[in-house]
Amino acid sequence: MTQDPFRLDGKIALITGGNRGIGLAIAQAFGKAGARCMLTSRSRTDGLEELVADSETYAWTEADLTDTAAPGKIVDATTERFGTLDILVNNAGVAANGNFHEFGDEELEYIMGTNFTAPFRVARAAIRPMLDKGAGAIVNIGSISAVVANHPQLQVAYNSSKAAIHQMTKVMAFEYASRGIRVNALAPGYVISDMTAGGIANEEWNRIWTANTPMGRFARPEEMATCAQFLASDAASYVTGAILTADGGYTTH
Ligand code: NDP
Repeated sequence: MTQDPFRLDGKIALITGGNRGIGLAIAQAFGKAGARCMLTSRSRTDGLEELVADSETYAWTEADLTDTAAPGKIVDATTERFGTLDILVNNAGVAANGNFHEFGDEELEYIMGTNFTAPFRVARAAIRPMLDKGAGAIVNIGSISAVVANHPQLQVAYNSSKAAIHQMTKVMAFEYASRGIRVNALAPGYVISDMTAGGIANEEWNRIWTANTPMGRFARPEEMATCAQFLASDAASYVTGAILTADGGYTTH
């Protein structure tokens, strides 16, 4: 029987923000595909509790990724628990709204610190065991926000942080392609999660977001998880430096 290249049997994955939203869906998909997963977040949630009850497949470690020491700590926790690290999904992220000219320093640092500096540091720590093995796959969760101006909500720092993630992805892919490590980004459009709940509940924002999405609906987190699984799997063995856009057509116009 031919091995299904989309499966992740025997792989060890580290998924930041794996307790809810897109990260939780990725954790569920990876587990079903045969991977064992270390999940990180600041908090525990019902969905996470369900997963970690299967302690063969899942473990969780608490980490506020804006702490300088956290990236090294979560990579160590993964290799201590599962012995190695094959896949990193840099998923944790936050958003904040505001005009450019009124955007505060503290908020700017919070958004860039969580969405860019933290994934940079996590990838820097995670790539060491991958370099030792000469193999690995990194999936950074970017966004269509890297290439459009979000509206009607204004999110200059968020947009900029995601553009930085896309560029980091390409440069890392270039640097490590010859050493067996693939680095790709997933760029979701609007996905139903806590991050977008307020906007989806807002009649005007909902109308504008939907009208701008040719498929006329928002994505389910599971629809992002399948894309992340593809990028992490051998099915994407010749894919590196790619930005996989999954946006219902949002960026076609
Ligand atoms: P959610 O708000 O549902 O979840 C955010 C996750 O990030 C949580 O697990 C949260 O953990 C974690 N997180 C946030 N800040 C920190 C921190 N300082 N340290 C550790 N963990 C942290 O968001 P989504 O699932 O919607 O988003 C996941 C990713 O997808 C993000 O990078 C987001 O930018 C991106 N994305 C989302 C889109 C959408 O429409 N939803 C569209 C495009 C991209 P905790 O629960 O402990 O706070």
